[in-house]
Amino acid sequence: IIIYLEINKNNNNYSLFKRDIYKPRIKFKNLLLENVTFNYPGKKTNLIKNINLNIQAGEKIIIVGKSGSGKSTLIDIMMSLIKPTSGKIKLNGKDFYLNSKESEITKHNWMQIISHVQQDVFIFEGSIEENIIFHDENKIIDKKRFEIATKVAELDKFVSPLKFKYKTLVGEDGRLLSGGQRQRIALARAIYKNPDILFLDEATNAIDFETEQFIFNNFSKYLPNITIIMITHRLTGFDSFKRIYTLKNNKLFLKK
Ligand code: ADP
Ligand code: MG
Repeated sequence: IIIYLEINKNNNNYSLFKRDIYKPRIKFKNLLLENVTFNYPGKKTNLIKNINLNIQAGEKIIIVGKSGSGKSTLIDIMMSLIKPTSGKIKLNGKDFYLNSKESEITKHNWMQIISHVQQDVFIFEGSIEENIIFHDENKIIDKKRFEIATKVAELDKFVSPLKFKYKTLVGEDGRLLSGGQRQRIALARAIYKNPDILFLDEATNAIDFETEQFIFNNFSKYLPNITIIMITHRLTGFDSFKRIYTLKNNKLFLKK
C-alpha cells in the first residue's frame, strides 16, 4: 500500500485513494431529504417536488406509486447517484452528495454501508452460495451471516430439496432459476453484505405473494437494526411495515 501511495502521489486519485483506505466504516444514523426537487434535463416539469423525508437508523419504510411516478428516481437521489435539482440531502446531519467536494463521505464509505437490489438482478454462473457471498473478498463464509441472509430471503424452502443444496450450480446467467428465485438470491446477497441500509427497488415483485409476506415479516424479526427503504408499485401486503408513503403528483403522502 505504501509503495502504491508513493507512486501515485502526484495523481489526482491519491487523496481519494488514501481517504478510502484509511477511513473506517461509517455508521448510519439518519438520512434527511429537505425540499428535494428534481427534473430530468430537458423536461419542463418537475418529476418530484419539495419532498421532505427523515429516515432514522433501523426504520423500515415503503414507498408505493404507479409506474412512472418517479420512485426509482427518488431512490437514486437518496443513494446519491443523481443530484437533486434543488433541495438538500443530509447524511448523519452533514451535507451529502457523493460527487461534490464538500461531502466528507466518500463513495467507498457509502457503498460499504448500503445494499441496492433492483427488479432485474445480476446472477452469475456458479453456485447459489457463490452468488450470495459475492461481495466477500476473502471468500470465507461468515456462517452466521449466511444463515440469517438465507433465512430472511426464504431460500431454505427452495434449496433444501436440492441434492447439492447451496452448492447447486445455477447455470449461465442463472438460467436454471425462476425470476422469484433469482430475486431471493439477490436479496440474500444484499443482506449478507451486512449493510446499514437496504434499498429495494421493486426487488421482490417476481416472488409469490405468500413468500413475499414471509420475507417482509423476516425483515423486522431478523434485521431489527437494518434500515430498509423499499419501493414498489404493488398496493397491498405491507402490514409489517410501520411507515407507508405514496408518491403521487410529484409529492410524497404519508399513508400510515
Ligand atoms: P418509477 O420507478 O416510479 O416507475 P422512474 O423514476 O423510473 O419511475 O421514472 C419516472 C419518469 O422519469 C418516467 O417518465 C421516466 O420516463 C422518466 N425518466 C426516468 N429516467 C430518466 C432519464 N434518465 N432521463 C430522462 N427521463 C427519465
Ligand atoms: Mg422504478
